[in-house]
Amino acid sequence: MVKQNVDITNLSNFHTPAKARYFYKFDWDINQLVKVIKKFQNLPKLFVSWGTNLLFAFDIFDGLVIKLTDYPVNTNYNFENYPSYFNKEIKAKFSLQDNVLEVSWFENISDVAEILFKENLSDKRKRFIGLPGTIAGAVVGNAGCFGLEIQHTFLKAEVLNLETFQVEEVPLEKASFTYRNSIFKSWKYIVLKAYFDLSSTKEKYPFEWDIQDIITFRTQKQPSGYSCGSFFKNPSRENPAWKLIEEVWLKWYKIWWAFFSEKHANFLMSDGTAKWQDLINLKNLAQDLVKHNFWIQLEPEVNIIN
Ligand SMILES: Cc1cc2nc3c(=O)[nH]c(=O)nc-3n(C[C@H](O)[C@H](O)[C@H](O)COP(=O)(O)OP(=O)(O)OC[C@H]3O[C@@H](n4cnc5c(N)ncnc54)[C@H](O)[C@@H]3O)c2cc1C
Repeated sequence: MVKQNVDITNLSNFHTPAKARYFYKFDWDINQLVKVIKKFQNLPKLFVSWGTNLLFAFDIFDGLVIKLTDYPVNTNYNFENYPSYFNKEIKAKFSLQDNVLEVSWFENISDVAEILFKENLSDKRKRFIGLPGTIAGAVVGNAGCFGLEIQHTFLKAEVLNLETFQVEEVPLEKASFTYRNSIFKSWKYIVLKAYFDLSSTKEKYPFEWDIQDIITFRTQKQPSGYSCGSFFKNPSRENPAWKLIEEVWLKWYKIWWAFFSEKHANFLMSDGTAKWQDLINLKNLAQDLVKHNFWIQLEPEVNIIN
């Protein structure tokens, strides 16, 4: 059932106050989903899974927000507790045949990676352990951790095409993956399933850390709280965004209740009460200062929805 004027503040991990003019919680019935989308065809649409890569830069979304997962989005990630998070009960489901992993959009990518690692099915995918969010969110944004990106093992996705209203497959050749981007960001598809080749040897760079190093990195180098992870893309390996932000003295700099983390300068954060305007002002300030000082244009990695 479509609801009107719904508070969606908690659907983005920044928790900026926001409402949706129309709101629909996907109830696993594709035919019903198609009906709803057709009814609201002329309005803008916004798809939300766990909301760990979304900044709502509006007070009211004048369109239809579709929440695609059941998971409660109280994702105030507390990496100080990460070792116990690692030991939590894991419920993810997937199927694996001839090294092809088939997994539905709503599964937590970290849980899938953790099972594959613990059961000696894929050592390589341990790099995704600790990555918040769903399989779909990771595919849409070509998520990457420690030199391994979604595109390196991706085979195809099953999607609902919002122009034809058919369920179809999009293979790697048509997925147009680039740095934190893909064809799936075009708002033309809802990702329903993804297939990965676990035998693939592709990667951006080799990575030798063991699981404890990964956990230590997530706990000690990344802040807990209301963020969407790294806010800007890294312009290059020599010039990571955190370094540029530190060099323009914005580490730990605050505008009202928004700030760049003291622990990791590329983590734009809210204390839980920041308004979207505070976050956007801080983002603009960082872009201006880095451009002025280094002639480098910082590009957001987080999806900013106006
Ligand atoms: C603490 C922290 C650490 C992080 N570390 C990393 C990291 O190391 N590497 C990295 O790459 N990212 C990182 N991120 C960002 C984030 O975790 C990933 O981008 C994640 O894959 C997003 O998944 P999600 O389910 O939350 O997607 P959402 O934020 O809900 O959505 C992301 C995008 O995908 C779209 N979308 C979601 N579901 C669907 C669907 N089924 N069909 C079509 N479109 C859909 C949304 O509209 C949106 O544009 C981090 C975030 C946090 C908070």
